[in-house]
Amino acid sequence: MADEHHAMRLETGVALINALTGEHVHGRPKPALRGQDLVRATTEALETGNGRVDVLTAERLRNLAARLREIIESLSRREYDQAAGLLNRMLVDSKARPSLHRHGEQSWHLHFHGPEADIVQQWAAGLAVSVAAALGGDIPHRVGLCAAPRCDQVYIDASQAQIKRFCGLACQNRVKAAAYRARRSGA
Ligand SMILES: [Zn+2]
Repeated sequence: MADEHHAMRLETGVALINALTGEHVHGRPKPALRGQDLVRATTEALETGNGRVDVLTAERLRNLAARLREIIESLSRREYDQAAGLLNRMLVDSKARPSLHRHGEQSWHLHFHGPEADIVQQWAAGLAVSVAAALGGDIPHRVGLCAAPRCDQVYIDASQAQIKRFCGLACQNRVKAAAYRARRSGA
């Protein structure tokens, strides 16, 4: 399977995790989403059309995102055995299996769910496979957890050196400023 399919799926997975789970973002508390706010955040993360996600679907996707977060948190603590165990369980639960699909005149392409899978089962199977590909080293993408205090955002690091530590500039600057203040007060 082409790397870009895994990469695109990982991006959506990270978008779901950041939109639907976590208690802090960029140093601020992050309220838990409910009802239509949850539906809206899920629709945005999936970049899908309005009306395709209802509250129950959004809640199931949030559970999926929470399982993925647990795996990424294990990876960020370098608990690779734990992460692999959780991921293997997710591969089984999601019933992930390779199968070729074709929509209309499109060419055949590889999916990891059966024809009967609903949108949550599709994402569960696809994300389990793509995170496994990242963990197993088949694609050069690392998923990580922001190292800044009071931030639970996850990120994808596709750089050669794999040295990314923060979810973005907001947190990187926040940590730099705190280190600068600490040096000045110590001097
Ligand atoms: Zn952050």
